[in-house]
Amino acid sequence: MLQVEVPTTILRGEPTMPLLVSATERLAAAMPQAELVVVPESRDHSRYSEKKAVELMKTMTCKQLGGPCDHQHRGQTADEVIKAQDRHLNEMVAGGDTMHAPALKEMKGRWKHPISGMGWYRAAKRNFAALPED
Ligand SMILES: [Zn+2]
Repeated sequence: MLQVEVPTTILRGEPTMPLLVSATERLAAAMPQAELVVVPESRDHSRYSEKKAVELMKTMTCKQLGGPCDHQHRGQTADEVIKAQDRHLNEMVAGGDTMHAPALKEMKGRWKHPISGMGWYRAAKRNFAALPED
């Protein structure tokens, strides 16, 4: 696992067992190319709660998530659209787009600085929660 060269996302729920918290943090520290993402929807190992599971889809644009374009991401949870935005930024920049480079840099910086990154993450979740359903 430590030899993986591709960008890797380590997901863990919140709250979860302290053992898993320290294990994921040590794994993230040992893998500089990995991003540790804490997913508050996953409580004590459950997947999304039943309430979340029946929620309808919402749409958030690249712009609403700090990017430069009107590309739309649809998802049931803020995490889904945030992850879609991460992929979108990576794909656009990998494809030679320079407009998305600052947003990609910011996104990577957020996961390197979990405290300040959490503020952005919570704001994105609040914005998502405030959106009307599609
Ligand atoms: Zn975009």
